[in-house]
Amino acid sequence: MDLGLKDKIVLVTAGSSGIGKAVAKGFELENAKPVVVSRNEEKLKNTGLPYIKCDLSKKEEIDFMMKEFEEKYGVPDVIFLNAGGPKSGYFEETSEKEWYYAFEQNFMSTVRILNYFLPKMKEKNWGRVVFLTSLSVKTPIENLYVSNSIRLGITGLMKTLSLEYGKYNITFNAVAPGWTKTERVKELVNKEKEIQIANNIPLKRMAEPEEIANAVIFLSSEKASYINGQTLLVDGGLAKFPL
Ligand code: NAD
Repeated sequence: MDLGLKDKIVLVTAGSSGIGKAVAKGFELENAKPVVVSRNEEKLKNTGLPYIKCDLSKKEEIDFMMKEFEEKYGVPDVIFLNAGGPKSGYFEETSEKEWYYAFEQNFMSTVRILNYFLPKMKEKNWGRVVFLTSLSVKTPIENLYVSNSIRLGITGLMKTLSLEYGKYNITFNAVAPGWTKTERVKELVNKEKEIQIANNIPLKRMAEPEEIANAVIFLSSEKASYINGQTLLVDGGLAKFPL
């Protein structure tokens, strides 16, 4: 199937490892032109793709990254919005600093990037924006207060943008992964715990990052032209609701 992504300029945030890297590589396989934005220069180099170093929790770095992106690569056709996961913890353990950090890193990074590029994407009369959220937007996870809250803010933003920009042929969707075997999860979860988690998932295993990336690539493609304002759960059937 030709996904119609050839030569599309793609901005991939937090793309130097895990799901973001799989997304960037997926776009490359479709002959699109992904540019990876992330914090760690060593890991960025290892992607073998064009990149711009940027800490998404810092406004000045985002401003610099966007100008450089536009100068070198032009206005993106596709934007994939991802960032590091907010810190886990129960309510009383979570400091005000941690709430603000996730707000800057996960929410404001998204607002800033879209504020800069959306007016320019409108002129192309074609665009795709895909947000990376989490299963936790459908089923809150007990000790993930910050993530559960901030990601619902992002979901609200995604849905509201989808109401306004459809007339410019720009769609907004989110991909919400369940357990995905990235380095981070491999560090957090030992083999025994992994088997336990997998047993609760109807598909009896965690996702590979590429399986999350496939959903992102599809939603970014020409073939997803009538899908707008949706959150697609890619969790192996773990969430029992909504039906
Ligand atoms: P990962 O640790 O493998 O990758 C995270 C990427 O984000 C890295 O490239 C890192 O450099 C980059 N990054 C982190 N903070 C950044 C910052 N401030 N500025 C720029 N780049 C930054 O993790 P992952 O598992 O691929 O997770 C990606 C996102 O998906 C996270 O938000 C995570 O919470 C979410 N998620 C992951 C899972 C899972 O099971 N792995 C499930 C649901 C949601």
